[in-house]
Amino acid sequence: MGGKKLRIAVIGAGASGIAATIKLKEADVGEVVVFEKANDVGGTWRDNTYPGVGCDVPSHLYRYSFAPKSDWTTEYAPGSEIFDYFKTVAKDYGVLDNVVFSSEVKSAEYADGRWHIHTSLGDQGWFDIVISAMGVLHREVYPDIDGREEFEGISFHSSKWDHSVSLKGKRVGIIGSGSTAVQILPAIVDEVADVSLFQRTPQWVVDVENKPISEEKKAAYKSDPSKMQDLYDFLADLLNDKFAAALVGENDEGLAEISETCKSNLENNIHDPDLRARLRPDYDVGCKRLVVSNKFYPAIQKSNAHLVDAGIDKIEKTGIRSKDGKLHELDVLIYATGFDPFNFFKPMKVIGREGKDLGEIWAQSSKALRSVTVPDFPNFFFLGGPNSPIGNFSFVMTAEAQLGYVVKLVKLLSEGQFREIEPTVEATDAFNTAIDAAMPKTIWVTGGCQSWYFDKSGKVASWPWTYEKFQEDLRTPNLEEFRQI
Ligand code: NAP
Repeated sequence: MGGKKLRIAVIGAGASGIAATIKLKEADVGEVVVFEKANDVGGTWRDNTYPGVGCDVPSHLYRYSFAPKSDWTTEYAPGSEIFDYFKTVAKDYGVLDNVVFSSEVKSAEYADGRWHIHTSLGDQGWFDIVISAMGVLHREVYPDIDGREEFEGISFHSSKWDHSVSLKGKRVGIIGSGSTAVQILPAIVDEVADVSLFQRTPQWVVDVENKPISEEKKAAYKSDPSKMQDLYDFLADLLNDKFAAALVGENDEGLAEISETCKSNLENNIHDPDLRARLRPDYDVGCKRLVVSNKFYPAIQKSNAHLVDAGIDKIEKTGIRSKDGKLHELDVLIYATGFDPFNFFKPMKVIGREGKDLGEIWAQSSKALRSVTVPDFPNFFFLGGPNSPIGNFSFVMTAEAQLGYVVKLVKLLSEGQFREIEPTVEATDAFNTAIDAAMPKTIWVTGGCQSWYFDKSGKVASWPWTYEKFQEDLRTPNLEEFRQI
């Protein structure tokens, strides 16, 4: 391609940043520099190393379309295998040559048609284009509970697992009952003396067995990639189409089926009626992100596992005091309390046209055009931006769809059709008005729960339509939605 050679900054070398680098290099539009805060690629799969970490999106769906993997060991891969996959792809496609490691972006400031970037390593100069590929679930949240500093045992967040600490024979507490806590508990229950799960809100759990993939199947996928593609298409249809449609009010039958599956899992597999009642959510299935596990219910029923649902009063020197006055003595306290998806780019400062500060603009609610671009932030593109499909979908597929759209715009910039592009306020407002109109029929709103999908203004930050529509909407940029200079 013979167009203008652009300087492109990619922020983050996780799943979306690796794909962005590969696709931008393929497009041959200029120099790509990836700033990565850590000293390795892999993002969330590098950071989350807690016992039991794995992906509850099927392995064959959790990969780049351009780099299928025939030899996943299990139907739902463990975190270490996914981490290896992303590292291998990054290495094989030469991404590592483009990454500046241990370089956390501190600020990106727009002036005179370009972006000036500073990282923890200092001034990185000017770029024509910035692509935010930071992921959304990496700013860990610690709960606002009195006495957190008082605890004299060992404590850490699930995403900052301290592997120097042996849990063998210890009294362990886990705060949280989301996807992370539910993976940790079964992985440690047989090793610890005692484990207490501090549950504020019960979760619906779908019982899925994680079967190994046979050597015959792996060999067949390798020798005939069309078999792998068929499996991918089948899983994409099931999860991203039917399941997504069920959550957004467009597949009531599917939702009823999922609901029934979760309810009978609870009824059939939790034997003590009292425990069953305490694990039964009072909101609709699908409202919070579905927890996928066939290990949690057996583990929570073991004699050394305890469900504490009386609420946490405070944390003390020796453990957690629940609201019923009981002190639960602990040696190790694990915060499986999730992430702040709305501050994913903090403490980075993003300053756009006329000094506009993205942090201030998004303080209550984040808004973008089709999850990718924001008015007054020209040539700044988000992967995993506001209203991307979140929850139980494959983030890799989402990021790839957004990336395809971004690369098309970047090519136009490289061809010199324009120097700068940003969405119009009108198009962005119209898109967000459509989101607001569609959201009330989704299970996230009708289901009667609270979750990390809600932003500070009370709006749900997910995609309120089918996945098919997401891919369709991002297939080709509509240039009428943009202001071009
Ligand atoms: P999460 O779903 O946000 O769950 C956080 C848990 O901490 C909730 O149970 C929450 O209770 C509890 N909590 C927060 N503050 C609390 C407080 N002050 N007192 C008591 N409990 C408190 O976080 P996560 O489990 O780390 O999962 C986050 C996301 O990561 C998932 O939704 C998913 O997208 C991703 N993930 C994916 C996988 C996978 O297999 N693909 C695995 C792990 C994580 P409430 O429900 O009452 O708020």
